[in-house]
Amino acid sequence: MPSSARSTARLSEHTKLLRCVQGIQERCSRAAPWEPDTVGLPAPTSPSALSRINDVAFYAHAREEVAALAAVCAHLVRLHHPDGEEHCASCAGPWPCATFVEIAQLLS
Ligand SMILES: [Zn+2]
Repeated sequence: MPSSARSTARLSEHTKLLRCVQGIQERCSRAAPWEPDTVGLPAPTSPSALSRINDVAFYAHAREEVAALAAVCAHLVRLHHPDGEEHCASCAGPWPCATFVEIAQLLS
């Protein structure tokens, strides 16, 4: 495969991963924030009151925390992209760099 074709294919992998992360961000922004009046109380997973408090705290913060994690992923994917010369524009390693490969594997 010619170098320009490999570069285009790798850019496509980068574009697909970035779109995946942006999709998560968009779903977070459109989702109704968790509140007892909007989504309801989560079903108890344990009779323990402490466990119930943990469940409620998790749901109460999940939307914002998922959005924050997706923003970190989007930032890292934008930072680590092919430079058109077979290297990562950020870390200068051979493309795909270790950071991009790791993020792609973790999100697949
Ligand atoms: Zn990199």
